[in-house]
Amino acid sequence: MTAFTETTCPYCGVGCGIRVDQQGAVQGDKRHPANRGALCVKGTALTESQRLPSRLLYPRIKGKEVDWPAAIEHIALRLNDIIEQHGPEAVAFYGSGQMLTEDYYVANKLMKGFIGSANIDTNSRLCMSSAVAAHQYAFGEDAVPACYDDIDEAELVVIAGANTAWTHPVLFRRLEAARAAKPRQQWVVIDPRATATARQADLHLAITPGSDLALFNGLARYLLDQGAIDRDFVTRHVAGLDELRQQLSAPEFAPEQVADTTGLSLERLLHFYRLFQAHPQTLTLFCMGINQSLQGTHNAGAIINCHLLTGRIGKPGAAPFSLTGQPNAMGGREVGGLANQLAAHMDFAPANRDRVARFWGTERLAQGPGHKAMDMMAALERGEIKALWVMGTNPAVSLPDSARARRALARCELLIVSDISPATDTARLADVLLPAAGWGEKDGTVTNSTRIISRQRPFRAAPGAAKPDWWALCQVARAMGFTGAFDFDSPAAIFREHAALSGFENRGERLFNLGALGTLSDADYDALHPLSWPLAGQHGGPARLFADGRFATADGRARLRTAAPQAGPGTRALLLNTGRLRDQWHTMSRTGHVARLMAAATEPRAHLHPDTLARLGLGQNDLLALSNARASILVRPVADDDMAREQVFVPMHWSGEFSAGGRVNDLTEARGCALSGQPAFKQSQVQ
Ligand code: SF4
Repeated sequence: MTAFTETTCPYCGVGCGIRVDQQGAVQGDKRHPANRGALCVKGTALTESQRLPSRLLYPRIKGKEVDWPAAIEHIALRLNDIIEQHGPEAVAFYGSGQMLTEDYYVANKLMKGFIGSANIDTNSRLCMSSAVAAHQYAFGEDAVPACYDDIDEAELVVIAGANTAWTHPVLFRRLEAARAAKPRQQWVVIDPRATATARQADLHLAITPGSDLALFNGLARYLLDQGAIDRDFVTRHVAGLDELRQQLSAPEFAPEQVADTTGLSLERLLHFYRLFQAHPQTLTLFCMGINQSLQGTHNAGAIINCHLLTGRIGKPGAAPFSLTGQPNAMGGREVGGLANQLAAHMDFAPANRDRVARFWGTERLAQGPGHKAMDMMAALERGEIKALWVMGTNPAVSLPDSARARRALARCELLIVSDISPATDTARLADVLLPAAGWGEKDGTVTNSTRIISRQRPFRAAPGAAKPDWWALCQVARAMGFTGAFDFDSPAAIFREHAALSGFENRGERLFNLGALGTLSDADYDALHPLSWPLAGQHGGPARLFADGRFATADGRARLRTAAPQAGPGTRALLLNTGRLRDQWHTMSRTGHVARLMAAATEPRAHLHPDTLARLGLGQNDLLALSNARASILVRPVADDDMAREQVFVPMHWSGEFSAGGRVNDLTEARGCALSGQPAFKQSQVQ
């Protein structure tokens, strides 16, 4: 009989279950609730992507191979020296939604609990933080209310700022199956581009980029004007109606004005509004187009407002549904791996600081939020942060204004990079490189978009001296003198402590409570089946949240977010939009080495409307320089009927490892949502 290892795909927030046999052949896990056996092309190519041309096998200091004890001693001495000279705020950590929850937990404990700085942020800041801020405000906690079964139940599916067909392919297949089984289900897709997702919509709204807020504020105004809100639900479960109603009475939220702002015809706009009004079972999926905006938190909040006003939450087929970009962005949020969170869904309120300090047994706990990703780069640039540990991500390419980020990283007195590859643009800048165990070699848990915790299990030994990230963090912590708190000998031991902290003095104030798993045996941890939180009975909890209309705020009522005005579009030559391709992942450090994944797009191309190309006098084999005050990149253009005339789309993936001239984030602006700190990747201007 063939033996399989059951594990989880590391590429996106759908969190597909995978079975890998002893020969490395991959198949979808039919029993996993996230994918029921389906996999996309990236998932099926997973073991191929493990064959990197240059795998980092041994620690390196300034390019010279050393053994682990030497690397750990060097890092600990340098970090202690920097802390002694400049204080704990001179140290920072930048992690990734690729890290397992156990890695994240140890990194957060080391930084916030023992180094004493909250300068720990993650690339989840780049994809989810606006949704996080909107959830925290509206629901009192960062909790996605929906579950995948809602897709099957919905009568109307609204997809805003997401090319789900390419970026969450297995989820999209479930959407297709739901519509096939329920032909009356309708789809509205809101996207400036006519993407693969938009082309399958019953109604595609190609709005002016950045006008999402006007669209959803206008929808709330329309619902109020039509008397189409669920008055009983709002009266009992929602706060802030009078203030919102008063704000939305301003002329800018009237349909005619919203049509003008969004660039839609009034007829098309009202068609959408009437569809929303008519379907109590509405599911609104949203992703980067909503979150990566100067008004990202307000965008997400405006969507949530429309669901709260109509009572479309906690019911089958009815919820706002933030799609997570990364496999473990959610797990990172759960441990507190963002600079503005403390731990286990707690913020820095004095009572939380006291509770966490007692649990960890530390007197050095960080006293308040630290630098978020873009602020972290600015602090590096100013020389305030002297040491940075980057784990499992490539900020030299993925941060906005990335040429500036590379200069800031190069300024660092001590840049430590943990990765599987020495070839990323960030790894090339490192003073110390640490070889990490990769997917299929490491062991731990991840949480997907719908709060399902799944195991990632190893099925092969890590090559060379590569080690799990939690192990490297614990070794450094102990060498720095933090004895006793980092004696973990397995991911199971870390998970137990993480679970216990989430349940510590948590009498129901926080939904995120894994306390019942705090005594899990090693064997039970190893055998853990996918389960979603909040836990109930023998662990597996209700998949859908807020069914009782009770939220996690102090008074149990959800809060409507005030209706911020839509920011003006500004002047522009071309508006630059960035995003993902179907077959690529992040900065391609794994997928870029798989020939069949590279086949669909071998180089970065700038997508422009044919008329725009003609106006520029360019053919598809010419080279196009896209420039602004920050940088210039050189790419070949491609005529694309799906583009609006004033816009250009360039994929986000290419790094210096694959195309020296195609790093699109050299052009994007290091500016974003003031509330969440998420960069506005989709709102830069170029010539
Ligand atoms: Fe992996 Fe996402 Fe594809 Fe599923 S949909 S196989 S999680 S990349």
